[in-house]
Amino acid sequence: MKKQEDNLMDKIISLAKRRGFIFPGSEIYGGLANSYDYGPLGTELFRNIQNLWWKKIVQERPDMVGIRGPIIMNAKVWEASGHVKNFTDPLVECKICHVRMRADKLKDIAEHEKTHAGKKVEWTEAKNFNLLFKTFIGTTEDSKSTVYLRGETAQTMFTDFKLVLETMRKKLPFGIAQIGRSFRNEITTGNLIFRTKEFTIAELEYFVKPGEDDKAYEEWLDYQQDFFVKDLKLKQENIKKVELPKDELAHYSKRTVDTYYNFPFGWDEIAGIANRTDYDLKNHIDMSGANLKVKDEESQTEYIPYVVEPTFGLDRIMLAVLIDAYSESEARSGKEDAVHETEVTLRLSKELAPIKIAILPLSRKDELIKPAEKILQQLHKHWMCQYDETASIGKRYRRQDEIGTPYCVTVDFETVNDQAVTVRDRDTMKQDRVKISDLMDYFREKLPC
Ligand SMILES: [Zn+2]
Repeated sequence: MKKQEDNLMDKIISLAKRRGFIFPGSEIYGGLANSYDYGPLGTELFRNIQNLWWKKIVQERPDMVGIRGPIIMNAKVWEASGHVKNFTDPLVECKICHVRMRADKLKDIAEHEKTHAGKKVEWTEAKNFNLLFKTFIGTTEDSKSTVYLRGETAQTMFTDFKLVLETMRKKLPFGIAQIGRSFRNEITTGNLIFRTKEFTIAELEYFVKPGEDDKAYEEWLDYQQDFFVKDLKLKQENIKKVELPKDELAHYSKRTVDTYYNFPFGWDEIAGIANRTDYDLKNHIDMSGANLKVKDEESQTEYIPYVVEPTFGLDRIMLAVLIDAYSESEARSGKEDAVHETEVTLRLSKELAPIKIAILPLSRKDELIKPAEKILQQLHKHWMCQYDETASIGKRYRRQDEIGTPYCVTVDFETVNDQAVTVRDRDTMKQDRVKISDLMDYFREKLPC
């Protein structure tokens, strides 16, 4: 089983950097701990994951709409939401080297104690540290202008609840979705983009009548699992649901079920669903004085809706997608380039692959480059393409396999005579001879538009 391989994570990190998916952040200045840049291919892959999410969660659901809020909101939002008070991690400090660690991560603490071999390590009492990033509006750092970088995207969906309800003429049950950056000043522990201080969350708040929340919860739980297996095409055996015990629930949640992925460093969380009840709307009503209640048409009484919240960690999902797609095989593309024992193929779905089609002229002769460029100009209006005329054709195929490109179009010397090209399929390695004039139709059938 590849998952047991200790070095799979190292292979992913190396591939991600070598092929332009994920770079260490601020590298020329020595980096910044647990900060990463998405390179050109990582950016495409991320965009594809994000677009697929939006399509399934917003576009294909008449009961959903999307919004886009700011990272900095009125500070009162975070008082009302409980984040100023409760959004904390318990930390202990090593009395030898003063490093701070999560008091509840006993494994990490034990690991750290090993670094002081032979010495008895003492820790301070656990103390709660707030995870909100603080910053200041205006030019003075006085307390009146303190604001926070949002710790979750959810709050805009609550503060805009009434505006969305009225402007979009929605009736309950309905939901509001958002994708955006969130910030948590927490202890980060490596594993590439798995845990970073800023990250992209895709989440939705689904508003229902109290009493209908348990049913909506079950429905979204199924919908979320389908998204992972049917839409993202992650392997079923690498996904599992974990129900959180009552004493581990967040301050706003009545029930939480997380989705875990089988990472090389162990099973860990990539998504979750919380039943936030009427906690947030109630607090915003109390603090703002706004009427965020909904009128029940039958009884003509007002009530505060309950909220079911599916959340997806998009960066973690991208990491899971890369790991799930990674495969190695023995020299499957032939022996023409001699020494290459192991070949890597990223078996990404066609929807997610950053580059859909590579266009490869067999030689750099004008008679091949001209038609190849013409094909590129036609195809890249519809799909992300990559043009590559360097190195041997075998090497170029392997480069494309390594970044998960589903199709390679080769322009060869026959092309000049038969006005046709060879299309190679990444997974079957089958080659089709296709007329240039039929290429558009050929790919329309094979690729998502
Ligand atoms: Zn220490």
